[in-house]
Amino acid sequence: MNHCDEHNTATVATTDIKQWEQQMRTAAAEHGFLDTWDKHVLELGQLVACKRLPTWRAVRLLLQMMQADETINAHLQQAGRRQRLRIQRGLRRQIFNPSWYTRKIKKLFCQLQSKFSNTHVTGVTEANGKPVEAHRRLRFRNWGGTVDHVPAYTFVPRSKQGVMNIVRWAKKHDKRVRVAAYRHTWTSLYGASDEVTVSMLALDVAEQLPAQHPDIDPENDLQGIKIVGTLNENGKIKALCKIGASTSNEQFRSWCIDAQGGNWKWTIPFNVIMVEITYGGSNAPICHGAGWKNETLSDLVTEIEFVNANGELQTVNDPHQLKAAAGCFGLLGIVTSITLKIDTMSYAVMQPKKKPIALCIPPVSRDDVPQEVNMDGISDFDLQQAQREFERQCEQGYYAEWFWFVFEEQGWINCWKNNGSREQAVDYPSPTEAWFQEIQNYVGQLILDFDLFELLPGDIQARMLAKAAMAVLPSDRTIVTPLVDALHFRRGVQNMRVLDIELEIPIPAREDDETKPDWSICQRAWWDAIRLVYESAKGSEDTPMRLTLEMRVMGGSSILMAPQYGNTLGTCSIEVLTHCNTPAAEWQAFKQNILDAWTSYRDTEGNLLNARPHWAKEWEGLTMYGEPVKKHLRDVAYVDVIPEFKKRLEQIAIAGGVDIQDMKQRFNNKLLSDILDWH
Ligand SMILES: Cc1cc2nc3c(=O)[nH]c(=O)nc-3n(C[C@H](O)[C@H](O)[C@H](O)COP(=O)(O)OP(=O)(O)OC[C@H]3O[C@@H](n4cnc5c(N)ncnc54)[C@H](O)[C@@H]3O)c2cc1C
Repeated sequence: MNHCDEHNTATVATTDIKQWEQQMRTAAAEHGFLDTWDKHVLELGQLVACKRLPTWRAVRLLLQMMQADETINAHLQQAGRRQRLRIQRGLRRQIFNPSWYTRKIKKLFCQLQSKFSNTHVTGVTEANGKPVEAHRRLRFRNWGGTVDHVPAYTFVPRSKQGVMNIVRWAKKHDKRVRVAAYRHTWTSLYGASDEVTVSMLALDVAEQLPAQHPDIDPENDLQGIKIVGTLNENGKIKALCKIGASTSNEQFRSWCIDAQGGNWKWTIPFNVIMVEITYGGSNAPICHGAGWKNETLSDLVTEIEFVNANGELQTVNDPHQLKAAAGCFGLLGIVTSITLKIDTMSYAVMQPKKKPIALCIPPVSRDDVPQEVNMDGISDFDLQQAQREFERQCEQGYYAEWFWFVFEEQGWINCWKNNGSREQAVDYPSPTEAWFQEIQNYVGQLILDFDLFELLPGDIQARMLAKAAMAVLPSDRTIVTPLVDALHFRRGVQNMRVLDIELEIPIPAREDDETKPDWSICQRAWWDAIRLVYESAKGSEDTPMRLTLEMRVMGGSSILMAPQYGNTLGTCSIEVLTHCNTPAAEWQAFKQNILDAWTSYRDTEGNLLNARPHWAKEWEGLTMYGEPVKKHLRDVAYVDVIPEFKKRLEQIAIAGGVDIQDMKQRFNNKLLSDILDWH
């Protein structure tokens, strides 16, 4: 039985497509497009995923449904002549060139591009003596479309020796070298034009959608997972797990539950949700998951192995030096593996819930709630109860996360403990469910690529995406699953490109007890974001924030350059996301407004909290307290740690026999040298 057969609900299997399309058109005319979309989006996704409804026909149906809705049709009619021509052209393209065909052409074009740029660079060979895959002047774009340049060379090594040879070659030719993996970082932390980019992943894996999930290649020593020791930490057994820098979260997740691998014995204690991320990629800009007791991924590192500026392998395992080396943005060199301290497997008891937004994270005061949010039937008693529940989730949950999709009346709560039993646990999502989630996100991206979607008012775009997202998120069921599965509860995230700004706000102490966290900071940040969404939508049909607000509660960090560094009472990690078609100027203005709100909070003594952006997310080009963010990070936010960070990196360089200037010359980049004042 294939994934599709398993997913063939009665509706999908037996539907007469023509009749179903007619029902959708009638429903859209009678109840409106959005209402029909809300009720039937899941069916639509299933029909497309199981290829009962070709994409082009789904697109045509959506247009017909929009035209059947008087209000949306009026909007489309009002579109100027140029816009209408665009719609028609777009439609012709969508209908007569089914997206399958378009995708094939795009794929072929990419293959041709990488084939024609393919070159041979003398002396740059792999461990087996074969040339390292190399491309000359191949355009580089990150996943979110915010970084775009043309490196002189892009190398795709498959061995540590290959990486060493690339660095030696770059030294000889005085080129800077920066790494790229899945390219999920939005900031300019990559290379630049005329420099060298090292792609830790095959180009099609890094660049193409839908996501591919290749198995670990045993021939490639930049990938792999190996338990290299165990230790007892305060009575808890932990394993030291050496992971190749190119290994993806999906490869690690599969290994954990594979009988031939970790066999349900070990798990990473926390992680980024997305599975299409490499360990080298999440370690460099200090990524994180959720949970008040959980720090950043770089805090788990016990050893880091990298190719230094001399083109030699070097390792750092001194705990003091690791505070700089783990999470150093690639400044020491190209990381080939990291060893992480991981836990014995535990089992999450997920009990996701959808609740009215005010009961997910209650407002500090009713005045904080925009009038557009429906508070009917929500009593003060309900709010007090929600307050207790929220604080309990923050303090006692293993994992604490909340979502609000724009304009939805309900939010989604994903807070859980990891006290389940092995006997009850199942692999979640199952391979079929995971496949289906991947398809859902991919269909989401296809809809975004649909020209007509762009011409819809921003609020309708947001509502369509929100309803689709809420329809697929589980609720009111208990899922017991290995911890590593629960951390990656949502798959296919890679298949829909988005934009994202995230801030790490320190949780201050309570006024009445300085040893206890004041969770109200999370509530304020949450409701400020909702207020700004409604304010940005006022008087227009638009909103620049067209996807989701997400908040996680997590711990602090002892990694020097972590935005959570020194947050002894924890961190409110909060972010807003939109899709990549959002008008750039509107998104930029919205990001600034939200950053201004989130950086305005003070502790009980009136001091501003040291809120810092996630390094990998969108903060470039914004200001903090009236100064460019870069300047604020250098002169205020990290002013106390930058000298120590640089000192420790220099000590590591000296220990490896590396000239410090050479290290900077090889691995620094413009953004980092500006922030660190390190040229
Ligand atoms: C949809 C989405 C969801 C996300 N969710 C989260 C989340 O939950 N939590 C979170 O903290 N972050 C999150 N992120 C951010 C993401 O974790 C980071 O952008 C991460 O760096 C991406 O990893 P990557 O493999 O794509 O690496 P890339 O983005 O390609 O590289 C990231 C940086 O690391 C450097 N680098 C990569 N590999 C190496 C290496 N081997 N040696 C030296 N330097 C290297 C690169 O030069 C670059 O500076 C999310 C991103 C997206 C797109």
